[in-house]
Amino acid sequence: SLSERLESAFKQIKGEGRITELNVAATVKDIRRALVDADVNYKIAKEFTDKIREKAMGEKVLTAVSPGQLMVKIVKDELVELMGGTESELNAKGNPAVILIAGLQGSGKTTFSGKLANYLKGKKYSPMLVAADIYRPAAIDQLKVLGGQIGVDVYSEPENKNAVEIAKNAVAQARSLNKNVVIIDTAGRLAIDEAMMTEVTNVKNAVNPQEILFVVDSMTGQDAVNTARAFNERLDFTGVVLTKLDGDTRGGAALSIKYTVNKPIKFVSSGEKLDTLDVFYPERMAQRILGMGDITTLVERAQAQFDEVQAKKLEKKIRKNQFDFEDFKQQLDQIKKMGNIKDLLGMIPGVGKAIKDIDISDDAFKGIEAMINSMTPFERANPDTIDQSRRKRIAKGCGKDIADVNAFMKQFEQMKDMMKMMNKMPMGGKMPGLGG
Ligand code: GDP
Ligand code: MG
Repeated sequence: SLSERLESAFKQIKGEGRITELNVAATVKDIRRALVDADVNYKIAKEFTDKIREKAMGEKVLTAVSPGQLMVKIVKDELVELMGGTESELNAKGNPAVILIAGLQGSGKTTFSGKLANYLKGKKYSPMLVAADIYRPAAIDQLKVLGGQIGVDVYSEPENKNAVEIAKNAVAQARSLNKNVVIIDTAGRLAIDEAMMTEVTNVKNAVNPQEILFVVDSMTGQDAVNTARAFNERLDFTGVVLTKLDGDTRGGAALSIKYTVNKPIKFVSSGEKLDTLDVFYPERMAQRILGMGDITTLVERAQAQFDEVQAKKLEKKIRKNQFDFEDFKQQLDQIKKMGNIKDLLGMIPGVGKAIKDIDISDDAFKGIEAMINSMTPFERANPDTIDQSRRKRIAKGCGKDIADVNAFMKQFEQMKDMMKMMNKMPMGGKMPGLGG
């Protein structure tokens, strides 16, 4: 998948100290290949990755985040931009507002019509559905079943074979029934053909829709882009609906369509249940494409909070194996400043799920803090001097058992051993948050 490919692309520069021309070039090439594999048009992918390279090279790498994380953020920001930046609102104002649904057969028009009616009903509109698919008798029944499930009227004329007339009559009927939104579900064909285009264009001209939504199956990849282009040339639609964005569907279509027709994606739909319609948020789609949890937020918080100078000092101390309790305490403060511990850990991809049911409260750190606070400045700076009698005094000072202090001292020693080991590794074995 694209997300896996991107992850492996980022691995190339994870653990490297800075973003250099060399590691960016390799990463960018991988990202481009991954995008193309996810059905993004080559030209679009190239333009996209050129921009990524430019941005990455100009970026100052903070000590608090790894270059890999920074690259993820750059790529994500750029994806969001490419997909329109912010969400695009549906125009459902009119008397009644007319929303025309167009797209190929099987793309999900009828299902989406039902979902949209349900969505608008939830927003206190009073919608009406119109069955204007005159070729398949079953189409009327399908819409009626959907309408029945959500309690929305369905207008149909089973004997009439003129979609334009049906649409016009439906709008008149809606007006007389005080419905304020009319959703017209039209017929589609398996491939773009002139008769279908003429028909839907005629319907458009007859009812003057506020919105013309082009519905496209997001699983159709590159074809989705060609279909979008053809429909847009004839209909000049106002927005795109991506359907069947279930499970692992690749996000490439969203990227390419927005880029190619420059029309906003307004909704994404997944599953056959009527309440699975979502407004399209470029931000969320970018996250989906990257499959990265909420690492961006993590990076942003780190950037906002981390004191670079302090990080440098700390790194030096770790290298000389002089890490002490004062440093430990500063690290705790740093982590605390960044927010709730569990939230923070949850933002690391893969970790969120693992700790979902585990109770990690910020209180876990309170005990440790209390013990450190109970040490004298001399003890904090010289952990080796903390013998049994000092431990007893520290325990008493913070209301803990001597066993707690012993356990903490042991953990601290193990941590220092680990740091010593990492110092011996190539590139110093960067530790996130410890100035890498
Ligand atoms: P239309 O020919 O464009 O009207 O397409 P339909 O609405 O009849 O949908 C075609 C098929 O795709 C039906 O079996 C739907 O149940 C299914 N379908 C529609 N939208 C979605 C979706 O978002 N996710 C999934 N998994 N199936 C969908
Ligand atoms: Mg249909």
